[in-house]
Amino acid sequence: MTFYCIALVFSISFSLNAQLDLSSLKDKNILIVYGGWKGHQPEIFANKIAAWLKDKGAKVTLSESTKIYTNQGVMRQVDLIIQHITMSEMSEGESRALQEAVMGGVGLAGCHGGLGDSFRNNTEYQYMIGGQFVKHPGGQVDYTVNITAAENPLVMDIKDFTLHSEQYYMHVDPAITILATTRFTGEHDAWIEGIEIPVVWTKPYGKGRVFYSSLGHNKEDFDIPQVWEIITRGITWAASPEIN
Ligand SMILES: [Zn+2]
Repeated sequence: MTFYCIALVFSISFSLNAQLDLSSLKDKNILIVYGGWKGHQPEIFANKIAAWLKDKGAKVTLSESTKIYTNQGVMRQVDLIIQHITMSEMSEGESRALQEAVMGGVGLAGCHGGLGDSFRNNTEYQYMIGGQFVKHPGGQVDYTVNITAAENPLVMDIKDFTLHSEQYYMHVDPAITILATTRFTGEHDAWIEGIEIPVVWTKPYGKGRVFYSSLGHNKEDFDIPQVWEIITRGITWAASPEIN
């Protein structure tokens, strides 16, 4: 019996890894840019992701400034950018350099306000991400994340789950591929009762792949296995254009 159970677990993980192999992060050049509103503890997030990436054999560069987007020496080498900057601003030149890198094939991944509520006055940036945070009615609430694309390797074998955190209400681009959503109860704003908003998506931008998850207000949110699984799979996918 034990043998069969092990064989079953092995075959499930094998079929998953065949499509999304974490070993594909080995030797990838990954740039983590963090900062902005301190309430999202950007440095803690950056260091946690950096430690995980280094463990997978990736070469990680950390930066606290969007000026690095104009550093051609760095940007020429990079496979993936992970950004965690809530609100804040960047210069037009930095914004253009970031867009050109992603357009040319560099991946871009991130979560919560660090990618989905950055540079509020920059619509070109929002056009690249595929969505923009507008409100989290009620502050931190109990809510459910529904996996809506169970056949997609980024969320395959992850069941619907609940958490207590900010439920992001976002304005989204129809060009995104939605992998998970959440439904609003209307308890805090009656007129949005039953409205379903994307939580996890992918989006093409030129040759680049963009991955976004709205989860992650509290650093403890990343201790929830499903939240961590989603962000790490998304990072792996965005860094690996060789994976479909
Ligand atoms: Zn937040």
